[in-house]
Amino acid sequence: MASTYVAGDPGAAYGRWTNPVWTSFEQALGDLEGGVATVFSSGMAAVNAVLEHASSRPGLPAPGGVVVVPDGAYSGTLALLPPARYVRVDIADTAATVAALDAHSGEVAALWIESPTNPALAIADVNALTSAARARGVPTVVDNTFATPVGANPLAAGADVVVHSVTKLLAGHSDLVLGAVVTGDPTTTAALVDRRTRQGSVASPFDTWLALRGLRTLVVRVERACANAAMLAERLVGHPALARVRYPGLPSDPGYERARRTLRMPGSIVCVEFHGGAAVADAFCDAVRLWMPATSLGAVESTLERRRRWPAESASVDESLVRLSVGIEDVEDLWTDLEQALVSATAHT
Ligand SMILES: *Cc1c(COP(=O)(O)O)cnc(C)c1O
Repeated sequence: MASTYVAGDPGAAYGRWTNPVWTSFEQALGDLEGGVATVFSSGMAAVNAVLEHASSRPGLPAPGGVVVVPDGAYSGTLALLPPARYVRVDIADTAATVAALDAHSGEVAALWIESPTNPALAIADVNALTSAARARGVPTVVDNTFATPVGANPLAAGADVVVHSVTKLLAGHSDLVLGAVVTGDPTTTAALVDRRTRQGSVASPFDTWLALRGLRTLVVRVERACANAAMLAERLVGHPALARVRYPGLPSDPGYERARRTLRMPGSIVCVEFHGGAAVADAFCDAVRLWMPATSLGAVESTLERRRRWPAESASVDESLVRLSVGIEDVEDLWTDLEQALVSATAHT
């Protein structure tokens, strides 16, 4: 927990440069992803460092070229650069994404991938996209927050850089904000560490220690949450209050086949859309008693929210879309609560 260390200590000197707890966490996450990890003060600090690094690549037009991003990428990522620096694509449409790389040939700083996207749950063909990008000299970044290294290892699928909001499933208990970057390239890692040191986007040692403790149960949490999500999604399909249920583990889902090929498990996030729009969705969120109406995701406790309550959420997301982040509680308790909230929401509107 120290900010400074006895002079001459080979492992530590000053708390903005390095910290022994960071090193333990970075080794664990690096092993899980198959690369070298660097911890940051938040997921957004990690995203920012990677975007700045990609934009500083020589040969790009000022001010750093454009970034090809999924239409429904995390709203914070889409808000980081001026809108003109983003080229938005349907990341599930491989041909359209590659066409966007070609249309902006010579000016693409990076291809940014999320799979599944947040909250549209679009599934990308990560292998095909990374090889298309590599053939064009464009680095690929995968935000692996939703899949976690339990579900996917993008570096092995050809990505150059992986970013994480450690806040979510990796830490898993809604008690800290932290981020990380993983790469297989020592030059990139050194540049990111240098950026972290100069900009001071450093992680709290205590929060990093909590995240390391969270990592010890990652596999069992993710497996249980995913099994719960699959069971709830199956029961939600066809419910008369719902216009649509999205979950990549459902055979009826547009991402099902690709998720089976590219992800070890379909994840713990389920999205539903309501007949009757935002009002019914809001009534549903007000009516749950065990589920927690709250933003964020990936914790041991189940949470839900209507995403368009945030003005920054993409207009491509339906007004009535409620994102369910499924936790590790008893699945029958979770279902009983959803069922009564669905009845209550539709009765009042
Ligand atoms: C939450 C989130 C982020 C941002 O992470 P913070 O830890 O909140 O800064 C980035 N990407 C995705 C997919 C997220 O869900």
